[in-house]
Amino acid sequence: MTTINQWLGWPDKISVNCPMCGSKADVIDLKQIIIRIGPSTRPKEKQYTDYFNANVSCLNCGLTKQKKFQWPVDAYYQGNVKGKVLWAWNLEHAKVINEFISSTSRYYRKYKFSSSLYHLPEHFKLSKNRGACLKTLDRMITRES
Ligand SMILES: [Zn+2]
Repeated sequence: MTTINQWLGWPDKISVNCPMCGSKADVIDLKQIIIRIGPSTRPKEKQYTDYFNANVSCLNCGLTKQKKFQWPVDAYYQGNVKGKVLWAWNLEHAKVINEFISSTSRYYRKYKFSSSLYHLPEHFKLSKNRGACLKTLDRMITRES
């Protein structure tokens, strides 16, 4: 089933660092915050943070609570690429970005989360940064296991 978020190219869940134990936790009331951190609200070429309150659920320590988060500071999937923070909403998103960066084609429409790829800052799309980008994405993706 395609949800409205998928149709818009947005994620169904967001992974954050658990405020209690630091493990991967999921933000569960995504609807209210997606508007604030969705790619369409993020100007290109700009790195900035945003705050939001959301209910978080951690399978590791059992925390279920409303907390204040800062994006992308609290993003579970994030890494530095030559001075700029590359982040992903969740593991699936990180894999899609990885696939997109690996490819020489910049035809973003064929990918899931296409709007986020469209709004991905140029910095990460430059061929001279591809190697660093892929290394960071690899670290993000393998963090899961
Ligand atoms: Zn936890």
